[in-house]
Amino acid sequence: MESVIFSNNISFDLSKYLNQLGYSQLGVISDSNTSKFCYPIIEKLLPEGHKHFSFPAGEANKNLNTCSQIWQWMTDEGFDRKALIINLGGGVTGDMGGFCAATYKRGIRFINIPTTLLSQVDASVGGKLGIDFNGFKNHIGVFTQPELVLISEIFLQTLPLEEMRSGYAEVLKHGLIQNANYFSCLKIADWEKQNWREIIEKSVQIKREVVEKDPKEAGLRKILNFGHTIGHAFESFYLNTDKHLLHGEAIAVGMVCEAFLSHKKSGLPKEDLQIITDALTEIYGFFQFFEADIDDIIKLCSQDKKNEGSTVNFSLLRRIGNCDYNIKGTAEEIKEAISFYQSLT
Ligand code: NAD
Ligand code: ZN
Repeated sequence: MESVIFSNNISFDLSKYLNQLGYSQLGVISDSNTSKFCYPIIEKLLPEGHKHFSFPAGEANKNLNTCSQIWQWMTDEGFDRKALIINLGGGVTGDMGGFCAATYKRGIRFINIPTTLLSQVDASVGGKLGIDFNGFKNHIGVFTQPELVLISEIFLQTLPLEEMRSGYAEVLKHGLIQNANYFSCLKIADWEKQNWREIIEKSVQIKREVVEKDPKEAGLRKILNFGHTIGHAFESFYLNTDKHLLHGEAIAVGMVCEAFLSHKKSGLPKEDLQIITDALTEIYGFFQFFEADIDDIIKLCSQDKKNEGSTVNFSLLRRIGNCDYNIKGTAEEIKEAISFYQSLT
């Protein structure tokens, strides 16, 4: 697995690891926000002559068009197979920059420096890379590990609050699927009082323990998809609309719906369902959507990569802290779960 370093001194650590890794050319990929807020933090310690590529921020740009531009940039700069890429940004930059690196000339090495809570606790670890395609989330991609993930809280200082909240959904998910004690410490998000370093380390530990046992998602790793089957459908459906949801906000909706399915299908006690809906709706509120959209959202669920053939595969909770996977669900059941979510408002 990739090495994950929690850095108290990003300048020192980055210089050290760049020297250790060595490279012919060095390229940094960041989006328009991380170019502004994060690149200045590392720029001064990178060697003169390194190259920088910036693309417009947002999930809507995690696509083939931006990949073409990145591959063109690598080609124009003459990157060879010993070039090294630094992905400096959130999950969009990490997923897409990593995908471009992993496929350019059959693969060049890359480092992730995740700059959102979401990417620090989840996206930058585990080797899943990819882009969205024709409205389907993460439809095209590969599994490739970065050389290194370098995590520093310093980047979170400029991260907007709603992005912190979005990342927090993955943190809550880690507690829900693997560790009830951890979840119970997390429920109420008092942002000021949170010990982010501890939370990030614990979440990364949970994710790595799962991924280590099942790197290619043959079985157990599917538990990390709790909340994502229905959540991704909401995220995809409202992408590029004025109702668009951040990844974590969509996953929060998905986790409430899938907690309901867990109660129906995998033995999640009613009290646990109540605890989960209370915690999630307190932090994320209620997402309002149109009745008329529901059938299309359900159709998107069946496009999920976890499915085999036409059945929808869910990862569902047996109780808080314990998750099962490969549980088949029907369109009717998904509809019921979405209606449950609506009934809460
Ligand atoms: P993101 O990369 O779009 O970042 C969110 C926003 O924050 C962007 O506008 C970005 O420009 C801005 N930003 C980033 N760092 C900042 C900083 N330090 N200061 C100010 N602004 C900053 O999205 P995300 O929430 O990090 O990640 C979501 C993506 O990650 C989705 O595409 C999702 O599919 C993917 N993901 C992948 C995995 C995986 O295992 N590969 C896991 C979870 C999520
Ligand atoms: Zn996620």
